[in-house]
Amino acid sequence: MKQPSKQHLLRKGIADIKPYIPGKPVQEVKRELGLEDVIKLASNENPLGPSPLALEAMKAALQEIHLYPDAECYELREAVAASLHISPHQLIFGNGGEEIITLIGKAFISEGDPCVISRDVYDAYESVVRIMGGQITYSDLVDYRINLEDMLEKINEKTKIVFICNPMNPTGTIVTRQELEPFLERIPQSTLVVLDEAYSHFVSDRNYPDGIDYVRQGKNVIVLRTFSKIYGLGGIRIGYGVAHPELIQYLRQVKEPFNVNTLAQVGALAALRDDDHVNRTLNLVRTEKTFLYNELSAMGIRVIPSEANFIFIDVGMDARSLFQEMLKRGIIIRLGDIWNLPNFVRLTIGTREQNLRFIKALKDIRDNLLRTASNSL
Ligand SMILES: *Cc1c(COP(=O)(O)O)cnc(C)c1O
Repeated sequence: MKQPSKQHLLRKGIADIKPYIPGKPVQEVKRELGLEDVIKLASNENPLGPSPLALEAMKAALQEIHLYPDAECYELREAVAASLHISPHQLIFGNGGEEIITLIGKAFISEGDPCVISRDVYDAYESVVRIMGGQITYSDLVDYRINLEDMLEKINEKTKIVFICNPMNPTGTIVTRQELEPFLERIPQSTLVVLDEAYSHFVSDRNYPDGIDYVRQGKNVIVLRTFSKIYGLGGIRIGYGVAHPELIQYLRQVKEPFNVNTLAQVGALAALRDDDHVNRTLNLVRTEKTFLYNELSAMGIRVIPSEANFIFIDVGMDARSLFQEMLKRGIIIRLGDIWNLPNFVRLTIGTREQNLRFIKALKDIRDNLLRTASNSL
């Protein structure tokens, strides 16, 4: 007998929410395709792996894993506050930066609250606004960049939150200080600006604004940062928000007490002090970004100039078949179609060996396609 649907149990608005589509895990590809040697260039993870100091600290902390974590993240909070020259009261930690986005939704979005989000961006913002029953107004990208002029037009006195991803995921573009400052001056006092700076470490453009400056100035800004990218700790889940102490207090009111596990706290603290790992990562990403730009442009492939540790590439064909062909060769990339850009792929900058493997595979796949095309003529 057919079971009746259980959909009536759902809260209003939840039925239409699509689950997040993450980058395919390495193990899954190994399992599904029977491959041994698989590389993942799909989730902007650190190609050098975790900070060795973080690993050591986490191993040592295993001895005390029977104890609950510090709900206040005291040591880490002090260290991050010192490194950013802010007060510890301006900080909140989460189970990944993603949890901070969830907390922002829980604390601030009531049913029907209008929020402004750019189109084709990292989808955690849209997801939390929908879960909380808020209303989304989208702002279109121009040249793969967030257009603050357009966002401003879409904001009114009722707008609760505007989400700005800077650098933007998946395109790697930034909004500049010269664009952001007049924007912040002109939006209503009552609107909260979420500046997602998950990739701020990687930016080299001098016109990139440091969101924390606006927190210091007392603006309604929450800055998001994460240990998942530059610090290589994506698997242990830790990120943070920086904002005025009153806003931080509201976020604390909706968080679970033990949201950040002990290993994450200890690992993040050690990673924060591992300048060597950070510098090696930055050097690698810069060198390899240039390498990939050169290789791809030599192939006539368009790359959107990126300030992050990934690049967004126009492969000039439906990227879905490219994605499948790459998978067969043990290379996991990210498809642009989830951001409505079906000819694009997002590629995490890897080690030279990984990048070469990608370039070789790309040449191979394109040659095969051309050959099949000419055979069918
Ligand atoms: C990776 C990422 C985050 C944070 O990820 P966590 O792993 O949850 O810390 C936030 N925003 C963007 C745009 C990201 O790409």
